[in-house]
Amino acid sequence: MELQEALARLSELQRKQYAYNAASSALFLDSVTVAPRDTAEGRGVALGILAGEQHKLFANEEVGKLLDFLAERKEELPLSQRRQAEELKRSYDQLRRIPAEEYMAYTMLTNEASDVWHRAKERSDFSLFQPVLEKLVAFNQKFAGYYDSTKAPYDALLNEYERGTDMAYLDKFFAALRERIVPVIRAIGEKEQPDDSFLHQCYPIEGQKKLSDYLMEVMGLDRAHCGIGETEHPFTLDFNNKDVRITTNYDEHNLSFSMYSVIHEGGHARHALGVSDELQYTCLTGASMGVCESQSRFYENYIGRSLPFVEAVFPKLRELFPEQLKNVTAEQFYRAVNKAQPSLIRTEADELTYPLHIMVRYEIEKQLIGGTLAVKDVPETWNRLYKEYLGVDVPDDRRGCLQDSHWSGGSFGYFPSYALGSAYGAQMLRNMEADMDVWGSVGRGDLSGVTAWLREKVQRYGGLLEPADLVENACGAFDQSVYADYLVEKYSALYGL
Ligand code: ZN
Repeated sequence: MELQEALARLSELQRKQYAYNAASSALFLDSVTVAPRDTAEGRGVALGILAGEQHKLFANEEVGKLLDFLAERKEELPLSQRRQAEELKRSYDQLRRIPAEEYMAYTMLTNEASDVWHRAKERSDFSLFQPVLEKLVAFNQKFAGYYDSTKAPYDALLNEYERGTDMAYLDKFFAALRERIVPVIRAIGEKEQPDDSFLHQCYPIEGQKKLSDYLMEVMGLDRAHCGIGETEHPFTLDFNNKDVRITTNYDEHNLSFSMYSVIHEGGHARHALGVSDELQYTCLTGASMGVCESQSRFYENYIGRSLPFVEAVFPKLRELFPEQLKNVTAEQFYRAVNKAQPSLIRTEADELTYPLHIMVRYEIEKQLIGGTLAVKDVPETWNRLYKEYLGVDVPDDRRGCLQDSHWSGGSFGYFPSYALGSAYGAQMLRNMEADMDVWGSVGRGDLSGVTAWLREKVQRYGGLLEPADLVENACGAFDQSVYADYLVEKYSALYGL
């Protein structure tokens, strides 16, 4: 085989993988946005077959030979193709260890699980979800062995979401963070809280939709390339760097929920749109989960919850909701959307208490996958940890262990990447501040400089660099204390500590 021919086959393989992914994603998007309720069965069949075909396309001898050939000639390959071959080889070796029937059964299970989880959450009844969750945990314990049998199962799963992280690393990361933020949370508990009741007046959905349009415009999201839909749980799906979809969820009595969901998912969209053209239709379009979250949380928190940003968008908020906000100032709005208070729902948590929500999930996953916690005991453990970490009583499963969709999608080991992403983002902010007048432009409602910086330093690379290298390339060696410093400074100033 000639090298040129091998590279052509490498490209063709990835384009076919892209096509299967695009088809599965379109079915998924349909299922959570517009598909009628009782239509999951047929889609499950289609998804199962697509997954099977994708497995056949990839996990065969020919591909193995191609990847071995490229591995031998890797010194001659340009960086992008070398990384593609490396990543594919890694997935290939993993996938070859997963029997096709198990892979297909798992895909069908996650499709079913999403449905069951929705129903269980609606009825706030964990027992409905329990049997499916048991199967999902068992699959993941088994798959962890296929991924890397030299690692503890949960370490193998963590490594899938953020290469290089494991329990030893995260135990330290979370302990150090907790040590810095828990005293601040306690001190805030003694202080008077800002009034945020105005956020919970009636905000008609029509007005909120206009706000979404406006926020997407401020973020420079071209609607010809980025659509918005509505789902129970907001998310972003990117087909390629010219076709990205975000979703949100409107609550008439909670203005900030959708507002910040749109900015968060818009951040994911910016990331996907920022990946360079050369990486399209390859396996390198996506970065690690932590790096992805660093981008979404950058826009949501570091920019979106800053005073200059709130001041910049406040006139529009006033225009859309003149009655509701007539006696509110930008400063009061800023304080309200940064109110720090231990609460029940992760996606509604403030920046300061947010990492504690992650720590609860991390502890539970660690024990579930490690086999020291039975699935039936999840609600009890969840409620106990919420009391211990956040001091709140969980009234029901809907607002407890059934609140997130991740486990129903088979994602165990994903949650820590939210906290890591925030920590990466804090360091990016410090570096960005050294390079440009961030707050001057954000205060004018101009995010183009912020986006250009992130695109240049982070987004365009997609998965070309490993997460640790990408962070180091953008900001120097990763230093988690920057994140803790940021939180302590911000909330000390907000609450006059
Ligand atoms: Zn996200």
